[in-house]
Amino acid sequence: MPNQLTEKSSTPTSNSLLTLAVAPAKVMRGSGILADSSSIIKNLGNRPLLVAGKKSFSLAETHLQPIMDAKELNFAKSYYTPDCSEASLKTLHKAAKEHKANVIVGVGGGKALDTAKLLAHQLNLPVVTIPTSAATCAAWTALSNVYSDDGAFIYDVGLASCPDLLILDYELIKTAPQRTLVAGIGDAIAKWYEASVSSGHSEETLIIAAVQQARVLRDILLQKSSAALRSPGSDIWCQVVDATVLLAGVIGGIGGAQCRTVAAHAVHNGLTHVCGRGSIHGEKVAYGILVQLRLEEMLQGNQLAMAARQQLLKFYAEIGLPQKLADLDLGEITLTQLQNVAQITLNPSSDIHRLPFSVSLEQLMAAMVSTTAPIDTKESTNCISLSGLNSEVEQ
Ligand SMILES: [Zn+2]
Repeated sequence: MPNQLTEKSSTPTSNSLLTLAVAPAKVMRGSGILADSSSIIKNLGNRPLLVAGKKSFSLAETHLQPIMDAKELNFAKSYYTPDCSEASLKTLHKAAKEHKANVIVGVGGGKALDTAKLLAHQLNLPVVTIPTSAATCAAWTALSNVYSDDGAFIYDVGLASCPDLLILDYELIKTAPQRTLVAGIGDAIAKWYEASVSSGHSEETLIIAAVQQARVLRDILLQKSSAALRSPGSDIWCQVVDATVLLAGVIGGIGGAQCRTVAAHAVHNGLTHVCGRGSIHGEKVAYGILVQLRLEEMLQGNQLAMAARQQLLKFYAEIGLPQKLADLDLGEITLTQLQNVAQITLNPSSDIHRLPFSVSLEQLMAAMVSTTAPIDTKESTNCISLSGLNSEVEQ
C-alpha cells in the first residue's frame, strides 16, 4: 500500500489538495514480539533515542529490556515530561543531537507517541512507535497534538507520514491499567459519530470507505468490548485492541484531513483547559460524543441522535465510560469554568463548526449538562435553556 497519495479535485482550492498518509510502513503485532524487534529497528537506525513517559517506561521496562540490551543498537533514553509541549520538544531536540540519534523510538501512551512522532518529523528522522496501552490510535496516525506544560490542548500538527514502524506487543498492552483500553474504546467509537457527520454525504470513494470502516469499527466495539474487558489477553481482547490501536488509525489514514473530527473532539479540547490530567483523552472524547448527539437532538430534533445517545449511555454504563461531567471529576465545576470550556470549544478554528448547524454558547452549555437526559419530550427538544445547569453546576 502506498504511504502517500496525492490527488487534486476539480476545484483547485487549497482544501482540495488532498495528501494522505495512509498507514505505517510496517506493522508488527503479536505477543512478546518486542523481544525480536531489534534487528528491524536497526534497519531504520542504530542510534535510537527512546522517548517515553516516566511511568509507562517503568511499567514497560522488563518488556523493553531485550531491545535496550541489543548489541546492534546504541540506545539513549529521554522523557517527554511535563507533556507533549513545546518546552519538552526543545529539551528532546537537545537530547537527540547529543546522542547523534538517527531514529526516534516512542514508547508509551498517546502523548509519548505524539511527542516522538513530532520530534522525528522536525528532525527529519524515521520513527518507531511502541504503544504501551490501547488508549488511542496515536501509534498509527500522522498527527500530533501539542499541549501546554499543564496539559491544555493548544494545536495539532499534521505530519508528513505515518510512523516507519509500529510494534504492537499484546503482552505489553496487557500491563496497562484496564481503564486505558476503556478510554481507547471511547476514542475509537467517536470515529463513527464524527466521520458520519463531517463526511457522511461525501461522494469521494476513499471518504465513503473511511466512513463505512468507522461504522464497522463501532459495531465491533459495541459487540465485543464487554467480553474483551472481562478477559484481558484473550483472543477477543486482542481483537478489541486491534480495533482501537489499528482500525481507528486506518480510518484517519484513508479519510485524511477531510474526514475530520467534529464536536466530540472539540469538547475534549475545551475540557483539557479545566480537567488537567485527571481524566484521559478517550474518556473526555466519549463524553464529547454524548454532547454532540445531544446538540443534534436539541437543535435539529434528530431522532437518530436521540436513539444513539440512549444506546451509548447503556454501553458506557456496561464498560465504565463517563456519561456526565461528574464522571470526569467535574461534578463541582462552576458556571464560569463551564462557560470557559464552552468558549474554547467554540473558538473560530474549532471542529465543532463542522456540525451542519451553528451552536451558541448557551446551547453548548445546556448540552454539556444534559448528556444523561431521558428521551426528550417535545417541550425540552424545542426549548433550550440553562435551567438544567442548576442540577449539575454550582455557581
Ligand atoms: Zn482522539
